[in-house]
Amino acid sequence: MTNDWKPRTKLVHGGIRRSQYNEVAEAIFMTQGFVYDSAEQAQERFKKTGPDEFIYARYGNPTVDMFEQRLAMLEGTEDAFATASGMAAVNGALMCIAQAGDHIVAAKALFGSCLYILEKVLGRMGVEITLVDGLDLEQWKAAIRPDTKAVFFESTSNPTLEVIDIKAVADLAHAVGALVIVDNVFATPVFSRATELGADVIVYSATKHIDGQGRALGGVVLGTREFVRETLMPYLKHTGAALSPFNAWLMLKGLETMDLRVRAQSDAALKVTEALAGHPKLSRVIFPGHPSHAQYDLVQRQTGGKGGTVIAIEVEGGREAAFRFLNACEVGVISNNLGDAKTILTHPETTTHSSLSDAQREELGITPGLIRISIGLEDSGDLIADFLSALDQA
Ligand SMILES: *Cc1c(COP(=O)(O)O)cnc(C)c1O
Repeated sequence: MTNDWKPRTKLVHGGIRRSQYNEVAEAIFMTQGFVYDSAEQAQERFKKTGPDEFIYARYGNPTVDMFEQRLAMLEGTEDAFATASGMAAVNGALMCIAQAGDHIVAAKALFGSCLYILEKVLGRMGVEITLVDGLDLEQWKAAIRPDTKAVFFESTSNPTLEVIDIKAVADLAHAVGALVIVDNVFATPVFSRATELGADVIVYSATKHIDGQGRALGGVVLGTREFVRETLMPYLKHTGAALSPFNAWLMLKGLETMDLRVRAQSDAALKVTEALAGHPKLSRVIFPGHPSHAQYDLVQRQTGGKGGTVIAIEVEGGREAAFRFLNACEVGVISNNLGDAKTILTHPETTTHSSLSDAQREELGITPGLIRISIGLEDSGDLIADFLSALDQA
């Protein structure tokens, strides 16, 4: 097992553990626990576990471990801990470090559930949260204090696809010793350079590109071995957000094809953007991988110019026109996942972001005409033809 492998090789072979049968495909160790050879061994195991020594699936399991090690190899972190969903990963990464009286600074363009954890859960427990406009470095600078414990942000925001400068924010946070926690879903693990840019802890919802086929929920937190073992694991293993071995196996199989899928989806997203840019019925077409994006220079540095797999469009004529467009699309499906093999169309105002106030939505640019499109693996020509025809009917 070598860390010099290229990403695609890591995604196929990384972290593999074979049983005594030397199976080719990763085995599903569908077991909650493990048998000890003796009472003495059980006693030893509870004192200190090594890499091949498991106790209970809430703490670790061989199939789950393969998934964790494979993704850590890809991301370039020392270790990882997998969780039952992306939200369990976000919650774990924040809850394991926070205590009453702490201060955390976060970008306000956040997924509703992330905002709930920060404001409602951590807020209720006496953690002070300061929300800033993630694009405005002056606001980060003003908000980060000598006693700030951590900063948290989505590197590319949902659904308006603003890109936050990981390195610039990390430099400000590190100057006061704060931990940098990045939700990197929209950047995708394929294009991520978050580790080299200064992120200390990286969180993914594996439900998105890692599975990529709409089958299961999952999540993962990546970081240094010390952080994962000493800070994160005690919290997660005692609170029970463990990923099931079966779902870890689905995610392992997802990782094998993730690089190919995400690159194809990202290339198709660029083609769709080019085809829709300037359309008279669209007031905005947003894709971080297109030169028209406001942070295109940053996208070059941060994700090698790749804009992920999601685009956002704003239809002229508000919600009614947006609904007419959605209902006229025949290839993509109306749903709310992203990173899937199927193109997925979402109307944020009335679904994923419907719990926000009108003022919050307006501040985040979530207008009634805005539609999020997660580009799938279909032929890009079919997608473009479908979108153009649906725009005629909008
Ligand atoms: C989907 C998502 C999550 C939550 O992941 P689940 O697997 O649905 O729990 C968190 N952050 C971002 C940016 C997401 O897109």
